[in-house]
Amino acid sequence: MYDAIVVGARCAGSSTARLLAQRGLRVLIVDRATFPSDTVSTHCITPGGVIQLRRWGLLDRVLATNVPFVKDFMVTMNGMEFAPPGPPDETLGSTSPRRTVLDKLLLDAAVECGCESWEGVTVKELTCKDGTVVGIAGHGESGEAVDARADMVIGADGVHSLVARAVGAEEYDKRESRGAGFYAYFSGWPTTLVELAFNDQGGVGIFPTNDGQVCVFAGRSVDEFPDYKRDVEGTHRAIVESMSPRLAQSMRAGAREGRFHGWTAVPGVFRRPFGPGWALVGDAGYYKDPVTGHGITDAFRDAELLANAVAAGLGGAEPLDEALLGYQRRRDDMSRDVYHATQDIAAFDGDPDVAGQAFARFGLAVAQETMEIAAFG
Ligand SMILES: Cc1cc2nc3c(=O)[nH]c(=O)nc-3n(C[C@H](O)[C@H](O)[C@H](O)COP(=O)(O)OP(=O)(O)OC[C@H]3O[C@@H](n4cnc5c(N)ncnc54)[C@H](O)[C@@H]3O)c2cc1C
Repeated sequence: MYDAIVVGARCAGSSTARLLAQRGLRVLIVDRATFPSDTVSTHCITPGGVIQLRRWGLLDRVLATNVPFVKDFMVTMNGMEFAPPGPPDETLGSTSPRRTVLDKLLLDAAVECGCESWEGVTVKELTCKDGTVVGIAGHGESGEAVDARADMVIGADGVHSLVARAVGAEEYDKRESRGAGFYAYFSGWPTTLVELAFNDQGGVGIFPTNDGQVCVFAGRSVDEFPDYKRDVEGTHRAIVESMSPRLAQSMRAGAREGRFHGWTAVPGVFRRPFGPGWALVGDAGYYKDPVTGHGITDAFRDAELLANAVAAGLGGAEPLDEALLGYQRRRDDMSRDVYHATQDIAAFDGDPDVAGQAFARFGLAVAQETMEIAAFG
């Protein structure tokens, strides 16, 4: 019997589990994956996420994995380069660790704080009593049956969340996404910047990651994805080279390391993140298109908001339902502008000016969110 079972052990799950264990709860964390392992995601942790890693005492560990701390950011729109002023605080910036590195580090940190971890365990269903979720049931890697019980089951199991489906979590403010693309890692790519670029060919994201490599994402409309898939290397190169002569030169200088990783659009959505005996966090509860590279930061933010609410509710400081309603309201208020701007970019119809305006709104919304994240610690 645990106080909480967290399904999913990546950005949202391991962070929530660790924060709950630090507040004195008995926590089991379960994932069908084993760690270290990869997932489809580029890597940029924006300043809000960096603030949280520092607050949790984990930023130095992340930076010790040979990943750069980046202070500068460049946006290229129709070939015109803009370098927004860097964060006013010298200690702020972004970092883009590989998910093989970050997710393992977060899970290890949760276990160090006393969480029990079951890797290679797939949750197939939730167990319920009188309409309240009371546990999980599933199987291990060799098919053996596994089950566990808790006061609360937390779904941190990603956008296609089994927990959300099992409880029928209400969905709202669903918005279209039209992006699709591929990314790969390059060595010899000369940059110290995080970059985003848009034109009528699509969008590009460039993230300096571990061990001197650079993650280069190139996306375009999902309608063109079948053509893209027929020539991934050529299309990826053509999109990047179309953005600016400087990026074309970087592409020529770089050498691809390893295969391409593909991704295609899933609509953005908010889900009601709590009910009797259950809660949702990270992409399971609020999913936005990855075009703005902000899901990890928001997973950290919601881990912190949810852990505070669950600890207050289960610890008796506040009625649990009220605490969880407070979590939902705060999450939605802090997310709305970022979400709407992101989904406007993700509804990309080939007009880079529309994307540019949405990107400007995104920048303002993220600056506001970053200040709030800094304040709630
Ligand atoms: C192409 C792409 C690029 C992106 N780039 C960025 C970026 O640059 N910056 C950024 O901040 N965000 C980015 N994101 C978004 C980011 O990856 C997500 O927001 C983030 O991973 C959400 O973390 P999470 O912990 O909620 O879920 P996930 O990372 O999806 O983890 C869910 C975990 O749950 C486990 N799980 C699922 N179902 C079960 C089950 N039934 N039983 C047991 N375990 C289960 C899975 O194995 C998985 O480990 C990108 C996403 C994509 C697709």
